[in-house]
Order: sequence, then structure tokens, then C-alpha cells
Amino acid sequence: MAEAIFLEQQLQTETRVQGFISRSHQHYIDGNWVSSVSGKSAFRGKDWRQMSPQARSTLIWRLADLMADHLEELAQLDSIDMGMPIRQAQYGTTPMAVDHMRYMAGWATKIEGETIPVSAGNFFNYTVRQPVGVVGAIIPWNFPLLMAVWKLGAALAAGCTVVLKPAEQSPLSVLRLAELVTEAGFPPGVVNVVTGYGPEAGAALVAHPGVNKVSFTGSTEVGKSIMRTAADRMARVSMELGGKSPNIICADANLKRAISGAMLGIFMNQGEVCSAGSRIYVAREIYDQALEQMGDYANRMRVGNPLDPKTQMGPVVSEEQYQRVLGYIDSARREGASLVAGGETLPEAGSGFYIKPTVFANVTDTMTISREEIFGPVVAVMPFDDLEEALERANSSEYGLAAGVWTENVRTAHYLAQNLEAGTVWINAYHIYDAAAPWGGFKQSGFGREMGHHALELYTEIKDVWINLQ
Ligand code: NAP
Ligand code: MG
Repeated sequence: MAEAIFLEQQLQTETRVQGFISRSHQHYIDGNWVSSVSGKSAFRGKDWRQMSPQARSTLIWRLADLMADHLEELAQLDSIDMGMPIRQAQYGTTPMAVDHMRYMAGWATKIEGETIPVSAGNFFNYTVRQPVGVVGAIIPWNFPLLMAVWKLGAALAAGCTVVLKPAEQSPLSVLRLAELVTEAGFPPGVVNVVTGYGPEAGAALVAHPGVNKVSFTGSTEVGKSIMRTAADRMARVSMELGGKSPNIICADANLKRAISGAMLGIFMNQGEVCSAGSRIYVAREIYDQALEQMGDYANRMRVGNPLDPKTQMGPVVSEEQYQRVLGYIDSARREGASLVAGGETLPEAGSGFYIKPTVFANVTDTMTISREEIFGPVVAVMPFDDLEEALERANSSEYGLAAGVWTENVRTAHYLAQNLEAGTVWINAYHIYDAAAPWGGFKQSGFGREMGHHALELYTEIKDVWINLQ
């Protein structure tokens, strides 16, 4: 009986998802669905910032509840749109998006100022945190709903209004989210969605004089061009950019856990993760053993239809991305790396751009695949002789988003955690995220932190007030 009800619910969800996909969608502006965005569209931010924190919190929480009610539907939309395995969408990213909204709903009532004991005279001095204004949020295609929610949650809690531009490859879950925004009862214009290509829609948003702050997640190259445009009118920017994250496996690591952690670290979401652990450094004494186990692991992974619950890795997002990743595989072969697993496509998997989980050994620090972000299921595995060498090589990247360390030695763990140049360091773990833990990069991986209370700093200005008590 329970199973029959479950199957019936599944069928209804699939019908709703198919119905949503087959409809045509427009921009969501001022609470309406419109075919073009005119410069006159007003973002009625005043209503939102003047609403009580409690009322804002309630609306954000209501949106989270609606997302939870439609979790299966949102998960399927992301899976269909960009190839994310459905299990990951159902149990990972979509629940995380709901948690994130709830976490940020809580912050709406807790954004406080300070009183400052000034010595300049008889003054009462205090600060308030005020919303930065209209936020232009531009997001990539790899975690469509989650990336949108990371920005929306904090911006809304801070009292900002948002114009969100999803990536051209994967706008569906964000468009569905906009419908839920209406259903939750947000005032019109607080959340807006503009679809379109980056160089047109995205660039127009960045250049728009009404946009006070650009919150960008995407490639380092596009991030730099956005900063240049934003500089002209001193618009605020925050940047969540690319990565080439190192994962260090020490000789004393629990090898079984390290191997599965490192393989999840690279192959989760087809390697299309900004923090993918794409450079694995292994202590030389366990290098051969580790390589063998990594090869076995990669060969055993189930690659296929992302909607199949058994699938561990889906197709890469697009033909363009497929060609890029295959180009990197070719470069590794040409430059002399040895293939341990994968390296080829899976034409029999049906429609979609499938690449087998790929492990390369004998990679040197100068090879292209050890330097450039691939954003696909390809990993470079390299031996090291001592810890200092591993640290230096791990830090030799222009990026600094995340890093992993596998060791049973507490001194080694803390030493590396202190000295790795990365915004996040995982010890004996990889790809762990939480709404309360700050996220962002060092070096060319960007600046500003999403998640945690730190995210609120991106969406507020500090105002200092002096009151003369003489
Ligand atoms: P991308 O090419 O930089 O695009 C990101 C977004 O920017 C898309 O919405 C894109 O629009 C838009 N865009 C492109 N050109 C623009 C321009 N001139 N002005 C304004 N907007 C523009 O990145 P992607 O290929 O989607 O995503 C992969 C990258 O994102 C990787 O480098 C990855 O590391 C990074 N990423 C970082 C994080 C993090 O938290 N640090 C998280 C996820 C991804 P269209 O694509 O629609 O044209
Ligand atoms: Mg793009």
C-alpha cells in the first residue's frame, strides 16, 4: 500500500516536471512573467527593507517550506537540466538548499550593530548594518538551485532585493523557485529572475546603475571582467570563482577512507564542482597501492542516466564542456601522463555527453592537467616524498578554494590546516558543506564568503552614527 502511494506520488511529480519543462518561460520581474526586461522595471526595495525583520524571516522560512514540499520536483529539474545524479539532488543539494534558506531566515532577526566606546568627546556612537540595496546575482550551471539559494538567502535576510541571472544551460529550477516566491507571498520586485546569455543579460546587469552589488559565482576569467565593469561606478562585488584543489594523502592515512574520500572529491557531480579535489598528492610509500585502488574505484563507478537512482555519475553538462574535458584528456596523453582508468567516452550510455571517471598517474607539476581547472571527471595523481614538499606543491596553484588532507596524525593535520592556502580545509573528509560554515576562496578563487554569518557582510553596509551628548 505504502509503495503504491509512493509510486503514485512519483508519477505525479514526473508529470508536473514534464509539464513545467514543456511550457515556455519568461523573465520574472516585479512579480510578473514578462517577455522582455525594460529599463523601467522598478525594484520596490523599500517595501522589503522597511518590513519588520520578523516578517522577512517568516517569508524566507515560508519559501523554504515550499521548497521542501516541492523537493522531489526541484531535484528532478536540476538532474534533467545539467546531468546531476538524482540521488545527489534528492539527498544532497536540494535538502541543502532548503536548510540554507532556513538558516538565513533565522539571521533576518539577528543582524545587529554595536555601540562603540569613542574617546573623541562626549558622544554616543553606534553602528547599524543596512542592506546594500539591489543585488545582481549571477550564477553558474553546476549546482543551479543551490548557487541561487546561497545568494538569495543571505541577500533577502539582509533586506536586499535581488535580480538573479541563472546560467543558460540550467535555468529550470530557478524559474520554478520564482513561482514558489510568488506562492510564498513575497512583495513584487523583491526577487526577480532574468534569463539570457552572460555577455548580454549578465553584462547588462553588471553595468546597470540601479544594481548596487554584484554577487558572482563562475569562472575566474568572467569574474575579472565583471570586476572591471563594476569598478567604473564602484559597485560592490563578491567573487566565488574557480579552483584546482589539492588533496593530500599522507602515509599514515586510513587508506580505505582516503581513497573513497578522494574519489568522491573529484567525481562528485561529474567533477563539475568548483572545489573538486583535482590534484591528489600521495606519499610515495603508498603511491602504487593508492593508484591501484583509485583505478578500481573509478572503473567500478556506475555512469549513466542521471535520473536512475543507481547512477553515481551522469553526463557532463553540454557538448562544449564535453569537448573541453576531452581536450584536457588528450593534453595529458600528449604530455606523457599515464592513464590508470577511464580516458574515454561512453557512447552506449544513450543521449548525453558521458565521460568515464578518469585517473592519470605520472603527472608532473608543469603539465596542463595539474595546473588548469578542468571542471570534469579527470584527476591528476602525483607522489610526494615529504610533507614540506607536498605543502609547497599544493600551494603552487593560482587558485585557493579548498584542500583536503588525509592523516591520522593530529600534528600533521593542524600543520597543514594552518598552512594550506585555501578558504576551506577538510581533514579526513571532502565535500562537506553546511549553511553555518563560511565558504569562499583565497587568491584567484575569489573573495567574500557565502554561507555562515559571514555571508551577511556581502549584503550589508556598516553605518556609524555619532550623537553629541554635550
Ligand atoms: P562562467 O562561464 O563564468 O559563467 C557563470 C555565469 O556568468 C553564467 O550565468 C554566465 O552566463 C555568466 N556570464 C558569462 N559571461 C558574462 C559576462 N560577460 N558578464 C556577466 N555575466 C557573464 O562559468 P560556468 O562555466 O557557468 O561555471 C563554471 C565555473 O564556475 C568554474 O570556473 C567553477 O569553478 C566556478 N564555480 C565556482 C563556485 C564557487 O563557489 N567558488 C561554485 C560553482 C562554480 P551564461 O553561461 O548563461 O552565458
Ligand atoms: Mg556559460
